[in-house]
Amino acid sequence: MGMKTIVLQPEELDQAAAFLQAGACVAFPTETVYGLGANALDAQAVASIFAAKGRPQDNPLIVHCCSEAQVLDLVGEVHPTARELMQKFWPGPLTLVLPRTAKIPPVVSAGLDTVAVRIPSHPVALRLIELSGLPLAAPSANLSGRPSPTTAAHVLADLDGRIRAIVDGGETGWGVESTVVDCTALPFRLLRPGGVTLEELQTVTPVEVDPGVYGQLQPGSPPRSPGMKYRHYSPNAKVVLVLGDRPEERILAEGQKHAAQGRRVGVMAPTEHCPRYSEFATLPMGSVSNLQEISANLYRLLREADALELDVLFVESLPETGLGMAIMNRLRRAAGDNIIWAEN
Ligand code: AMP
Ligand code: MG
Repeated sequence: MGMKTIVLQPEELDQAAAFLQAGACVAFPTETVYGLGANALDAQAVASIFAAKGRPQDNPLIVHCCSEAQVLDLVGEVHPTARELMQKFWPGPLTLVLPRTAKIPPVVSAGLDTVAVRIPSHPVALRLIELSGLPLAAPSANLSGRPSPTTAAHVLADLDGRIRAIVDGGETGWGVESTVVDCTALPFRLLRPGGVTLEELQTVTPVEVDPGVYGQLQPGSPPRSPGMKYRHYSPNAKVVLVLGDRPEERILAEGQKHAAQGRRVGVMAPTEHCPRYSEFATLPMGSVSNLQEISANLYRLLREADALELDVLFVESLPETGLGMAIMNRLRRAAGDNIIWAEN
């Protein structure tokens, strides 16, 4: 830490690859969000990811590869159905949890006997993995607990001076992290919804949804995906997620109460609904008929809530089908316990 963070262009990947080979951390764009990468085979390099992010040691990392051969070299037996998922969805925003071999140092997987792997589709990410010749352990390139970064500026806001370099590849595409599926037992289990939807996975194999996806952790038993127990994606403002079909009256009433007490109130809602809330600061999510637009905007808007110095941010909920499942999962995590129900 206290180092100078170098901003590299996609034409300068040779230099980024050399940093990675020397054991340093480099942030790079993927098709989901920016990742903070280091050599997945080097325990010390991986430990410096946890240090830079302030990430709890028990939250495992995803290993990014550039080919199926590179993946198969790191994992134990792969179920034929997991191979089908690889063929159908890689490269792309799908992470598979598979048995780990001794090649992967325990720190990558937080001591679990599995490892999470994926092949990203972003050309800069793929090229960087290829040039370095290394599998890259890479969580999202934000300070632990903050919204994931979808631009290089977001990464620098959190990690400037804490990492060796960042490759600036512009805005990322999906805006939410990859889908995580546990493929170590049948039926496969969805641990985190993302760009590849549950409906798409179900076209290949029945997939069970882990209760942690809805924020329901089983008391007494450890979560299958350790990252799910942490509050995450949070701006400084208190985020209040409003469930139910008709949130308007409730948000107006609650917002007015807070405003009367001198708090700065914001509302994040589909763009079409924002005029209803004109007495507050509004953060238009994108069209309700375009969930891809909403997922791409989500983390930028949560960061904007900080720029606006909001004290409380009310968020309208969305339908949980398709990409809506991933968006609602992140909003629940950002809200923590602050979830209210708007009665009809
Ligand atoms: P991030 O890279 O910051 O998006 O976080 C990675 C997510 O993948 C975390 O929420 C982890 O809980 C999950 N994950 C990574 N490795 C494993 C694993 N071996 N088993 C289950 N979940 C995992
Ligand atoms: Mg993360």
